[in-house]
Amino acid sequence: MVDKDGVRKSGGYLINAMPDASNEDISKLEKAIFEAGAISKMLNENLTLKEIAIKVTGDKNVKVIQDDIEPVYKCNCSKQKMEEGLITIGKEELQKIIKEDGKAELVCHFCNKKYDFSKEELEELLKKIEK
Ligand SMILES: [Zn+2]
Repeated sequence: MVDKDGVRKSGGYLINAMPDASNEDISKLEKAIFEAGAISKMLNENLTLKEIAIKVTGDKNVKVIQDDIEPVYKCNCSKQKMEEGLITIGKEELQKIIKEDGKAELVCHFCNKKYDFSKEELEELLKKIEK
């Protein structure tokens, strides 16, 4: 929700149906979500997160399992994980990168962190594949 001063309220929620959810359960959920309306509007009306959960699920018996989680923007990527990714592209492709570019720069899809691989590092990975 935006006004002349910028973002007034913003939020989101994720609902994940369990494997045994019936089509009827999902239809009920979809109806409740539609009737609940925009989350920014509910936040602007100062509804608590539990009240919002009750509205969007249509379930008055919503139980809060844990309320002390501090969400953080954090990515678990690492050079090691990028190496594993590079290994999966295969021997030929890696040889091609070494020959044509002599280096590689990988960018994490989630956090945009860049990882540089030198020719020597790529050749080391190639040796790992060849083993
Ligand atoms: Zn990342």
